[in-house]
Amino acid sequence: MARENADTLRNLIRTRLRGHKFVTVSNREPYVSEWRNGQREWKRPASGMVVALDPVMRATRGLWVAYGKGMVAAPGNGKSEFVDVPPGNPSYRLKRIWLPEEEEQNYYSGFSNSALWPLCHIAYRLPIFHEKHWHAYQAVNERFAQAVAEEVGDEPAFVFIQDYHFALLPRLLRKRCPRAVIAHFWHIPWPDPEVFRVCPWKEEILRGLLGSDLLGFHIRFHRNNFLDTVNQQIEARIDRERSAVVYRRHLTKVRAFPISIDFDSVSSNAMSPETEARMNELRQRYRLSDDVILGVGADRLDYTKGLPERLAGIDRFLDRFPEYRGRFVFLQAGVPSRTSVAEYHRLNEEVNAAVRRVNEKYGTPEWQPVIFVREHVPLAELLAWYRLARFVLVSSLHDGMNLVAKEFVASRVDGVGVLLLSEFTGAAREFRNDALLINPYAADGMAEAIHRAVTMDCDEMRRRMGRMREQVRENNVYKWAADILRKLAKFV
Ligand code: UDP
Repeated sequence: MARENADTLRNLIRTRLRGHKFVTVSNREPYVSEWRNGQREWKRPASGMVVALDPVMRATRGLWVAYGKGMVAAPGNGKSEFVDVPPGNPSYRLKRIWLPEEEEQNYYSGFSNSALWPLCHIAYRLPIFHEKHWHAYQAVNERFAQAVAEEVGDEPAFVFIQDYHFALLPRLLRKRCPRAVIAHFWHIPWPDPEVFRVCPWKEEILRGLLGSDLLGFHIRFHRNNFLDTVNQQIEARIDRERSAVVYRRHLTKVRAFPISIDFDSVSSNAMSPETEARMNELRQRYRLSDDVILGVGADRLDYTKGLPERLAGIDRFLDRFPEYRGRFVFLQAGVPSRTSVAEYHRLNEEVNAAVRRVNEKYGTPEWQPVIFVREHVPLAELLAWYRLARFVLVSSLHDGMNLVAKEFVASRVDGVGVLLLSEFTGAAREFRNDALLINPYAADGMAEAIHRAVTMDCDEMRRRMGRMREQVRENNVYKWAADILRKLAKFV
């Protein structure tokens, strides 16, 4: 089959989804706006999901419904506003939903990120279950159901819901939009049934999700966990052969679709003159002479990303291989995230302290082993980081997929560089033979993997990187979208 790209996706949409409105729903907007001196300024958020879905929306010219961050009150009915995006080159519409502040806090920081996120990630943080968070979560799902129903009504449509913020939405929409085909993609891991059991509202969540026609996870392991959870918790029929659940006479297909990136776009941007210029600028800014070995990390500051563990691995590497002191630099981007959740505050402090510790232990007046850039580094800049790196280190304690790993691979147009990848990421399933898989809980193993990365010969690097590049080129974000859309088209 030909490789998928924006054209084949557009073609698929034209031929198979014609006559259907395409609606995406997510918490996060694909473009975040801020008002400065009466001018609207736009930013791309650091989110794997947005990176993956924006090209799909451009191709479908559809409608994206999301929470309007920073929206005080909207014009018109005061509950929503429409904006054409991408800014400067609009090709689809964004419907921004206003939420009362307290409700937003309780739904987002509360139930979504203090209950569901730790519940599903198993990074040894206890989920917090508060009734008021749950009520807000229900109320917000209702609001979004209303907002989508206003646009879809009883027209034929595909509604593609994103993530754990909207577990209840599929069932709510089924009633309101009788001709819509509803898909839900769960972007985070699904834990095993024993773990999920502790959620006081487990049945409501499962019933909500089983309102979908199609339910997607990144990998088969999460899909199987979901089927096992349904089997254990509610009266439903599991059809393992067809990978489906029948609940109250409605069939939900449950499938794995590994999300990816726009390989061609990342590759061509990575070899642009702008990237080359940034690489030169970085060499000067951080004094990266040719004999310096550079490692790179880029993450939201989230406890699932294993940042303290990563720093422990670097510490152990410098301890066990002292010959690299003075000529090894680890450059880490850490964009603060979910700062209103207490656990994330603690993490910020823990990471700062760990960086200080490593730098004090090994640093000299001329050299610091860890450079921590505590901000959002735009992808265009990250590409220069990736290209300068001997290796990228992804040490997630648990991660649905991890797109940084795929971006790094796509950026290495020179065919070298080593990916050190946590075995607990979805991406590890695709790169199991060619990345150096690490266990972030084991600092010694990580130190040895770093050593292997910095001593690997060029031929081996090329062989590994070549195969990983082929994997991402083939299984790019358009294939992810096309596979889902083809499945959706079968429901019509
Ligand atoms: N990212 C970024 N700047 C940063 C850190 C991360 O643009 O400083 C981007 C990164 O390029 C990637 C996304 O954020 O596209 C992170 O996606 P991933 O799947 O790795 O993790 P998530 O944050 O979605 O859990």
